[in-house]
Amino acid sequence: MVVFGGTFDPVHVGHLHAVDTLRGVLRASRVVCLPAGEPPHRPPPAASAAHRLAMLQLALANKPGWVIDTRELDRPGPSYTVLSLGELRAEYPDQPLCLALGVDAVLGLPRWHRWKEVLALAGIVVMHRPGWSLPDPLPAWWSGAQLDSHDSLPESGGWIKVVETPPIDVAAADIRADLANGISIETKVPAVVVAYIKEHELYGENTRV
Ligand code: ATP
Repeated sequence: MVVFGGTFDPVHVGHLHAVDTLRGVLRASRVVCLPAGEPPHRPPPAASAAHRLAMLQLALANKPGWVIDTRELDRPGPSYTVLSLGELRAEYPDQPLCLALGVDAVLGLPRWHRWKEVLALAGIVVMHRPGWSLPDPLPAWWSGAQLDSHDSLPESGGWIKVVETPPIDVAAADIRADLANGISIETKVPAVVVAYIKEHELYGENTRV
């Protein structure tokens, strides 16, 4: 299964298209979205957990195979990925876990709580992101785990694979800034989510971007 964590503040087309592509490449039947309750390495989200979850539910309503897992919203304390992966591994012992991360997120991996365990529990699938390049040379922890494009995926964790996802130049921070500045976000967010943001007047002038 593909495990896709994020703040989703709000969910946007970059998330959806990149992970759809990756899912096709991996031929994965399921994408498990893990919205973070308290993201440990960044300021608190601008929208409440309830709003972020509602937007994700709307965005995924007609996307078969995508499910939302609320364990990080339900668990008190920082939303450490290592805890969620450990639980998923115990609950689905026969299913390889593929953690989908944008290049920006992979570069921050060594700052994550118990990051080596994260890499041991799951394979990491890297999505391209405009504005971010793969480091050259790759750091040793990355190059040691890197699979070539023709390698088949090991059942266990401990590997990293870069997948050719389309570059989609959308970021939630830009969407929040656009909304605070009265700029249209229609091309960046599914229409149902645009309607939700308007209805609930999210990300107004005083929003943290
Ligand atoms: P923010 O701008 O608030 O930091 P974000 O747009 O990066 O938010 P997150 O919910 O923090 O969104 O990201 C969740 C995951 O999705 C991360 O692994 C991130 O790298 C990846 N991601 C986000 N946007 C894109 C994109 N446009 N293309 C590929 N991956 C993306």
